[in-house]
Amino acid sequence: MKRILIIEDNEANLYLASFILRKGGHEVVEARTGEEGVEVALNEKLDLILMDIQLPDIDGLEATRRVRESVPYDAIPIIALTSYAMTGDQEKALEAGCNGYIEKPIDPDTFTAKINEYLQKFRDAIHD
Ligand code: MN
Repeated sequence: MKRILIIEDNEANLYLASFILRKGGHEVVEARTGEEGVEVALNEKLDLILMDIQLPDIDGLEATRRVRESVPYDAIPIIALTSYAMTGDQEKALEAGCNGYIEKPIDPDTFTAKINEYLQKFRDAIHD
């Protein structure tokens, strides 16, 4: 079981991502704004962060930069949730300090596998 923070303002996406991850045996922490997400990211023990890009206050790129000021690239994976329609978001997310991205809409059939892939990839940086 890993502890995963989801920063996502869309209730349907948040619900779906949380549901799938909990069903996959993970513990989920939820945040609905960038500021709240940064606060949680800097104060709680986490194994992975899922970062929406479009958020109501600071966007996911700014939130990622703020987390990266204190948390190095290889210390915790930040995976952007990018919209299929928003071209350029994936490159911007990587530039901001994200380790990878998953495209929305979330595909329930592949979501857990993708998350587990990232957890595996960054396992050396992740505490037990
Ligand atoms: Mn959003």
